Amino acid sequence: MDLSSLLQALIPSWNSAYLLLGFFAYLAIAGSIVLGKLVPGVVLADGTRLHYRCNGLVLLLLLVALLGISAKMDFVSPTAISERGFELLSTTFIFSFLVTLALYFAGCKSQSKSSSLKPHTTGNLIHDWWFGIQLNPQFMGIDLKAGMMGWLLINLSVLAKSIQDGTLSKSMILFQIFCALYILDYFVHEEYMTSTWDIIAERLGFMLVFGDLVWIPFTFSIQGWWLLANEVELTMTTIIANCLVFLIGYMVFRGANKQKHVFKKNPKAPIWGKPPKVIGGKLLASGYWGIARHCNYLGDLLLALSFSLPCGISSPVPYFYPIYLLILLIWRERRDESRCAKKYKEIWTEYRKLVPWRILPYVY
Ligand code: NDP
Repeated sequence: MDLSSLLQALIPSWNSAYLLLGFFAYLAIAGSIVLGKLVPGVVLADGTRLHYRCNGLVLLLLLVALLGISAKMDFVSPTAISERGFELLSTTFIFSFLVTLALYFAGCKSQSKSSSLKPHTTGNLIHDWWFGIQLNPQFMGIDLKAGMMGWLLINLSVLAKSIQDGTLSKSMILFQIFCALYILDYFVHEEYMTSTWDIIAERLGFMLVFGDLVWIPFTFSIQGWWLLANEVELTMTTIIANCLVFLIGYMVFRGANKQKHVFKKNPKAPIWGKPPKVIGGKLLASGYWGIARHCNYLGDLLLALSFSLPCGISSPVPYFYPIYLLILLIWRERRDESRCAKKYKEIWTEYRKLVPWRILPYVY
């Protein structure tokens, strides 16, 4: 695609805006009706506490079923998203910009009574809009579920387009299955996400909204878009190797996150059938957490790689997601390391001696 057609494709449209508004209306309405486990969020500045409703899996399955039925009855086109990828991207970008501006002014208004309000310099204004004012990523009942659901909807529409074009390949099927399993698993374990950095510490500013609504769905699906335009021949050996990378990645990713989750709830719970090795009564040094200090990141990286391998190695474009994740997680691990060193002091030093590897044993 040349530059002028790219710019043309990026012009936002009303049709894209309607698709987006329909999606958010569904999340706001169904999200408030569909029941789910209520998990408490952090305490806000005014002393109140929001609750995160873990109903993502039902919401997602219901939405896919509704869209499937609507497509069957010719109410919506299954390729509605894949036919307007770039204009949907720019429309979502503008939407994120406007929503965070509205949130910024709402946040200013509610904080104007607070004595801790910062003086309004231009630097503060931009900082507050970018990083947000209010904790707990929720807006009109819409929270961080939107990005992961959007990613699956884009993938499914890309799948529909490849079927319509008669180009459905083994690569596309593998990519679709791996991503769908990852996204479903995310919602099956939604409760675990309520204790992650994005939920407990990140404020609702442009950075978080852009990351969730634009970055996740549109960049994590690049492999699918790429496969629509490129042909790849996979041998049986490469398919098996690709499945192994996915399975090992999943085992390490989910296993490590689960072991920590279980350990935080019950520090005596057995790990791999044996009593856990615990440092200073607080840090788990058994199982995956005895192999590397962030084995969960290794699992996530292998999963990301498995989403790109179906595209072969002829182009770096489909490897955008694993490369981005590698940079992000190396940076995040460093930040987490310094946070834990401050928090746990000498017991962290002891843990580091016992488990010297950060992410990948014998390499890093
Ligand atoms: P972690 O789940 O690794 O949590 C780190 C925290 O766990 C530390 O700050 C510390 O917190 C605690 N901890 C660390 N080591 C130990 C130990 N040995 N024993 C007990 N507690 C320990 O971090 P994230 O929230 O960054 O990641 C969660 C998941 O999300 C990961 O699997 C990651 O791969 C994934 N992720 C995916 C991204 C994507 O774009 N695909 C982006 C970012 C993350 P405490 O103070 O509570 O003890």
